[in-house]
Amino acid sequence: MDLLIKQIEEYASENNIPIMQKDGILFLLDFINKNKIKNILEIGTAIGYSSIRMANVDKQITVTTIERDEERYNIAVENINNAGLSDRINVIFSDALDINIKDKFDLIFIDAAKGKNIEFFEKYKECLNPYGYIITDNLSFHGLVDENISNIKSRNVRGLVRKIRRYIDFLKTNDEYETFFYQIGDGISVSKKK
Ligand code: SAH
Ligand code: MG
Repeated sequence: MDLLIKQIEEYASENNIPIMQKDGILFLLDFINKNKIKNILEIGTAIGYSSIRMANVDKQITVTTIERDEERYNIAVENINNAGLSDRINVIFSDALDINIKDKFDLIFIDAAKGKNIEFFEKYKECLNPYGYIITDNLSFHGLVDENISNIKSRNVRGLVRKIRRYIDFLKTNDEYETFFYQIGDGISVSKKK
């Protein structure tokens, strides 16, 4: 099991696949454990790393995870099969903004296109159990969110940074949800209904 996790980490690093950072994933796993989270919806599977790690916290945990990139989806399915978790992790090949999910979850983990976090949040909050949480990854975006915008050379990256800042403001000013921000990994937020 541990060997498979190591292999996935190595594959991700060699192929520039942005899986959760070490301390970020440990924070997430600890949160799932302490809050007795049982069913999880993840937006952004990549190659299945975080979904496998989350499912391994407890045998009762089930994960539904959505990935729009076909190659990554296929690798995720293979990794999840190899981990023996295909009965507890359901991978959906789709754009998360194009499908409707009827189930309810204790945790929604947003880790997909960084410019679409508000859309993911607004859409998928409908899938949250009354006492559930929404966790979002990459709110620092490699430290760039705190950087002076004029120091960022790429126009694309500037656009993404602006959108992440807008998402942070959206969370801070949200009437329905209270959010805590953590400078762990690449920046993580935890939102809970007020
Ligand atoms: N959670 C994973 C990493 C996800 S990386 C882990 O830590 O192991 C982000 C992934 O989100 C990418 O593979 C990308 O293809 C996917 N993605 C981006 N926008 C998406 C969307 N709208 N719907 C589904 N997947 C999306
Ligand atoms: Mg991430």
